[in-house]
Amino acid sequence: MTNQSDQAASAYQPETLAVHAGTVRSQFGEHSEAMFLTSSFVFENAAQAAARFIGEQPGNIYARFTNPTVTMFEERLAAMEGAEQCVATASGMSAILACVMGLLKAGDHIVASRSIFGATINLFNNIIKKFGVETTFVSATDVAEWKAAVRPNTKLFFLETPSNPLTEISDITAIAAVAKQCGALLAVDNCFCTPILQQPFTLGADIVIHSATKYIDGQGRVLGGAVLGRKKNMEGVYQFLRTAGPTMSAFNAWIFLKGLETLKIRMDAHSANALALAHWLETQPNVQRVFYPGLPSHPQHQLAMKQQKTGGGIVSFEVASSRGNGKAAAWRVIDNTRLLSITANLGDTKTTITHPASTTHARITPEARAAAGITDGLIRIAVGLEAVVDIQNDLARGLA
Ligand SMILES: *Cc1c(COP(=O)(O)O)cnc(C)c1O
Repeated sequence: MTNQSDQAASAYQPETLAVHAGTVRSQFGEHSEAMFLTSSFVFENAAQAAARFIGEQPGNIYARFTNPTVTMFEERLAAMEGAEQCVATASGMSAILACVMGLLKAGDHIVASRSIFGATINLFNNIIKKFGVETTFVSATDVAEWKAAVRPNTKLFFLETPSNPLTEISDITAIAAVAKQCGALLAVDNCFCTPILQQPFTLGADIVIHSATKYIDGQGRVLGGAVLGRKKNMEGVYQFLRTAGPTMSAFNAWIFLKGLETLKIRMDAHSANALALAHWLETQPNVQRVFYPGLPSHPQHQLAMKQQKTGGGIVSFEVASSRGNGKAAAWRVIDNTRLLSITANLGDTKTTITHPASTTHARITPEARAAAGITDGLIRIAVGLEAVVDIQNDLARGLA
């Protein structure tokens, strides 16, 4: 195998890295990255097998550890995020699990934003806790709360920005400074922005997490995830993966490699559509409030525009309800769509529409939902690549 990637790769722009970084060609000289569907690798002789197993000689052994297609994806995403190392995983959730299992031990403490993905909250509250790792949840936006939650055993800060579904923006630089002060690592789930719109390492983050399932695939086909960071922090993450096995499949890695190649143009198009839709929603009489970081009306618009290139592809809004029944008003909008997909996934070419209060956030108490600002009239749109006028017309029916 020959490594075709340029040694000076870091000098390239992100869209160039997205197309070329990590590419390795086999003896056949294929132009498109090959998919290596093999569970194990053959050694030339017993001595080579022994050298590989004890780590004396680099090379593939077994696909739970490494696979050339998966390695190409890892190298490409690492180049795009500006990370020393990337460890690919079977899903976004297994990336978060691998991060926690690789970096923490019983007795350690996490400080996490309250506004993170629901399954991440469950993982921290109900699974990791059983193994003696406690989590304190704090405001996504109030840095003082992060500082106040720190304990002597705090080892990890965890946030997601923009948040789902209200698009709150966490100040990565400010929270990274607090983490550094207390000797904790800051992990940022960069799923909503991808490295095209936001590069957490340049803002002081230590770990970046991805659900590749979303924008990196971009067409809603397969599950995958990634953990990125410095080599010394990734060693434990890789050892967990190699031992426990939530490994990314070669087929999925191949899909994600192709997804990365179009990520820049897709993120630009998702963002442009989302901004146009957000502006239009603000002019609708039956829309009470629009949440989109790209709008000047967003409370953290300035911060968002400092740490992200655009407002991203997710827009949420509250439907006005004359009789105080927000849920009925929101469901009317959802049920009157014909083009939009009623599904909780995001990052797809197809626009998706979700009622968070009765789906993604249904299992938390009404009080907790209210405290989190998830009202009954709230709708989340993951804006796809259709013509924005068609998306507007589809929503206008139910808003009328
Ligand atoms: C979907 C998602 C995850 C989990 O990813 P899976 O690939 O579904 O396991 C984690 N974080 C965020 C922000 C997500 O949107």
